[in-house]
Amino acid sequence: MPSPEYSPMECRRCGVCCTRHQASVRPEDIKRITAFLGISTDDWEKLYDDPRWEFDNYHLIRHVDGACAFLKYEQGLAVCTIHVVRPACCADWQPGPEKKECREGMGKRK
Ligand code: SF4
Ligand code: SF4
Repeated sequence: MPSPEYSPMECRRCGVCCTRHQASVRPEDIKRITAFLGISTDDWEKLYDDPRWEFDNYHLIRHVDGACAFLKYEQGLAVCTIHVVRPACCADWQPGPEKKECREGMGKRK
C-alpha cells in the first residue's frame, strides 16, 4: 500500500492490491522487517515466507486467508501492519485509476 501523501490518486484503503499480489522481499527488506518485528530470520521463514517460491535474491510474503499476512482491516479500512518498514515493492506501488485493483477499490468505497 502506498503512502497517501505521495500518491497521484488518494488510496481508498480497500486492500485489493494486497490480496491480488504477493509482495516480493529482498534480503534488505527482510532484515528491516524482522528488526521491526523483533523476530529472527528463522521465525520469518516459519511465519511469513511463502516456501513455494524461492528465487535467487528475493522471496514472496505468504498470504493468509487470501491476503498478505500483514494486511489487517480496521473499521473496514485496510491497514498494513508493517507500513513503516514495508517492502520496497509496496512502497513503490502507487494507486491510480488505470490500475484494475484501484478501480475495484473505488467501486467498494463509493
Ligand atoms: S506488506 Fe503491507 S503493503 Fe505490502 S502487500 Fe503486505 S499488507 Fe500490503
Ligand atoms: S488497490 Fe489501490 S486504492 Fe486499494 S489499497 Fe491498493 S493502492 Fe489503495
